[in-house]
Amino acid sequence: MATVEYRGATRHYAGTSSPAVDNLDLRIRDGECMVLVGPSGCGKSTALRMLAGLEAVDGGEIRIGGADVTHAEPKERDIAMVFQNYALYPHMTVRQNIAFHLRVAKMGTREIEHRVSEAARMLELEPYLDRRPDKLSGGQRQRVAMGRAIIRRPRVFCMDEPLSNLDAKLRVQTRTQIASLQRRLGVTTVYVTHDQVEAMTMGDRVAILKDGRLQQCDTPRTVFDRP
Ligand code: ADP
Ligand code: ADP
Repeated sequence: MATVEYRGATRHYAGTSSPAVDNLDLRIRDGECMVLVGPSGCGKSTALRMLAGLEAVDGGEIRIGGADVTHAEPKERDIAMVFQNYALYPHMTVRQNIAFHLRVAKMGTREIEHRVSEAARMLELEPYLDRRPDKLSGGQRQRVAMGRAIIRRPRVFCMDEPLSNLDAKLRVQTRTQIASLQRRLGVTTVYVTHDQVEAMTMGDRVAILKDGRLQQCDTPRTVFDRP
């Protein structure tokens, strides 16, 4: 776990007239879930990708746990990322999918089993551990992708519209599960969505972006109660 800081962080894509993320100052506390919201094109994904090291930073800096990671490789940042297009390994069971990174890292079998059980319990995946992804619903698949990401116990968890491929009913169910998982693990989280209800469920605080700039950052209640 760690704090995350954007300090004047800027990303200006070549050939565009204004920065996609413009001088962003944002401090995310240890264990906090910060939701980035705002209309399409306001810079949410770019800001998240800058943190994960998937997008260059053209100005300012980004810190994780106090350390400057502005130009660090993604691997060095100890971040797990979940996208809307979850890619599970189709030939592996749920159990094997969740355990994948730990096996690659050659963690001991007992510790892997312990962590898989814990993740499966928290994500309500216990009945499906021996199934393959094609036998799961979209919501279940997305939870497997999350299990696979969090089982490494990263310092920071990044999610970019993780529910947008799900139908309305599954979205409600899954967002409640993600919110409770995030709180239980207490992992510092940055969550991108354009959905206000999702932002209210997930966020300890909400940061509103507009044209790449931070408009407001406060609790969901304060941010959304205003006219
Ligand atoms: P989002 O759901 O975040 O709005 P988009 O459909 O806008 O996603 O973008 C999808 C992909 O296309 C992303 O990888 C993004 O970086 C890239 N992209 C978005 N806008 C442009 C652009 N103007 N020029 C080049 N690539 C772009
Ligand atoms: P959001 O996630 O809020 O929809 P993005 O971060 O995807 O916003 O995009 C912010 C702005 O940057 C948009 O104007 C988008 O078109 C532009 N953009 C995103 N990716 C690229 C890219 N690879 N090249 C050029 N422009 C991009």
